[in-house]
Amino acid sequence: MCGIVAAVSNRNIVDVLVQGLQRLEYRGYDSCGVAVHDGGLKRARSTARVAELASQVQQDLIQGQTGIAHTRWATHGVPAVHNAHPHFSHGPGANASEKPGRIALVHNGIIENHEELRQSLSAKGYVFLSQTDTEVITHLVDSHYNGDLFEAVKATLPQLHGAYAIAVFARDEPNRVVGARAGSPMVLGVGNGGQEHFVASDAMALAGVTDQIVYLEEGDMVDLQLGKYWVFDKNAKALSKAERDRKSVV
Ligand code: GLU
Repeated sequence: MCGIVAAVSNRNIVDVLVQGLQRLEYRGYDSCGVAVHDGGLKRARSTARVAELASQVQQDLIQGQTGIAHTRWATHGVPAVHNAHPHFSHGPGANASEKPGRIALVHNGIIENHEELRQSLSAKGYVFLSQTDTEVITHLVDSHYNGDLFEAVKATLPQLHGAYAIAVFARDEPNRVVGARAGSPMVLGVGNGGQEHFVASDAMALAGVTDQIVYLEEGDMVDLQLGKYWVFDKNAKALSKAERDRKSVV
């Protein structure tokens, strides 16, 4: 179980995401990656150090205001670039493996029922390009996606047995990241005078870029959009500002 950093901002956020991963290096990892919204889905992944990922990001001119990043400690599937996160949805349908689909996702934790989910998604025409348990979550979100990422993630969670912290964005919603946690840690960060919102598995990842950290609880979901955010508890009730502030450190 390693690290996640994700953001919705009004400036290019890639360097902040990669620096966040660098702050999580102490947790140990076997691979790392970052994906952004740049009109479509774009990513860089590496089995080397985060510093290597940083140069790959420079070289490939990866830039975006919305993005997700990950350090992986493999539980299902060997450490390899094709198993590194972020994962993209592929399918359903012909040529599904050739072009990235609509959903990009990072995950910390373990999905215990991944085998049966994989079978039913394959039967629907989803294509698996990794051996990870995580890829089933990506395809499940895609299968529920109807233009509203929050609703798609919400419909996915009851199908997952296991532990997770996830951060997800969609090709068709450029300024939005949805996150959820159950059994794995996750915090929310507010920065840049309320213009920038983050989730991370550890407040340390966000050191220097946030004015406020909201400590999320078991079963919480978050919806980050440009200049605004929501936290929902395990009963899907949106928390008021006062309730969020009570869970916060400024
Ligand atoms: N189970 C996932 C995998 O093997 C996530 C591992 C992690 O928490 O880094 O890819």
